[in-house]
Amino acid sequence: MRKGNHRNKQKKVKNMNDTFLRLELISEVRLERNVPLSRLTTWRVGGPADALITVQSVSGLIEVMNLLSENSIPFVVLGNGSNVLVSDSGFRGGVIRLSGELSSITAKGTYIEAGGGALLRGILRESVDSLLSGAEFLSGIPGTLGGAIITNAGAFGKELTDILFEISTLSSRGEIISRKEIEPGYRHALIPEGEIVVSAVLSLRRSSRKEIEKTIAHCVANRRKTQPAGEATAGSVFKNPTEMYAAELIESCGLKGLRSGGARISEIHSNFIVNEGTATARDILCLIKNVQKIVKEKRGVDLEPEVKLIGFQNVEEVCGV
Ligand SMILES: Cc1cc2nc3c(=O)[nH]c(=O)nc-3n(C[C@H](O)[C@H](O)[C@H](O)COP(=O)(O)OP(=O)(O)OC[C@H]3O[C@@H](n4cnc5c(N)ncnc54)[C@H](O)[C@@H]3O)c2cc1C
Repeated sequence: MRKGNHRNKQKKVKNMNDTFLRLELISEVRLERNVPLSRLTTWRVGGPADALITVQSVSGLIEVMNLLSENSIPFVVLGNGSNVLVSDSGFRGGVIRLSGELSSITAKGTYIEAGGGALLRGILRESVDSLLSGAEFLSGIPGTLGGAIITNAGAFGKELTDILFEISTLSSRGEIISRKEIEPGYRHALIPEGEIVVSAVLSLRRSSRKEIEKTIAHCVANRRKTQPAGEATAGSVFKNPTEMYAAELIESCGLKGLRSGGARISEIHSNFIVNEGTATARDILCLIKNVQKIVKEKRGVDLEPEVKLIGFQNVEEVCGV
């Protein structure tokens, strides 16, 4: 490495360390160094984050964002890690997680207001307890409200925009923005890139506990039949192309059970990739690339990943596919 480059790298590391030390002083912010992200993702892969920054309040989040952007420290928000593939080398910078006030859940009349870090499971529980119907389709989606807003999560013919009343975000300029006009669309981000979902309001309708629980039981039974239960996956890997199912395309190319290291295309649902226990992020990425290549060759369709990649430098070079 040339001397100048080496000095620049040292300066960057010092700047990052100084910023992390200042972040530790903010109240309602917890900072942990070198945290393996494999523990925080449902695929159970991913190297360490330089810092895991757990933020408990909106004011804390604003301070964190100001410090990170003033010092040009890269950051990413992680929800429940159920729709991400984190690289084996991890993430150089800060990984932000929302908790406390930022993951609270409150029912008000027929509305439920929840923080961006609130688990969908918790929102569903609140809807049952408050006798509110409309969120049942979320059962079995292991994410947070923030993560669900990034993909307009959906199942059983319904999607988040069907029940979304308002979203509040923090912009990269440190402003809180509230939006009620939300453009629906299949698995597309409902907010501009770079903004963080602070909270959202869902609009539901009154129903009986019996009816709500019946719909949830139907959704759960359907998932048990059609998805690999209890295995390390990230749900559907690819978006469904227009008027086609990605799973059917993959299956029609004979790819069920295809492997790359410790990663395998599920025999139960061809759009799921299972980590058999020893998979690396590279194994999973190479399997994704290989499926894309074969489906393009055999069926002429470009499959677009639904999962988000975190921490990869040169995706195209990783597998050479
Ligand atoms: C078994 C299984 C079944 C699944 N079934 C479904 C399904 O039926 N339908 C479906 O749509 N999905 C499904 N998924 C995928 C996943 O659970 C959803 O996409 C979920 O909404 C992701 O939420 P998360 O909190 O885990 O997001 P993460 O995976 O943590 O993050 C996803 C993206 O959102 C960003 N993000 C997270 N929080 C915020 C925030 N507060 N502000 C800004 N950006 C943020 C991240 O940076 C990342 O880009 C399934 C996954 C699994 C493992």
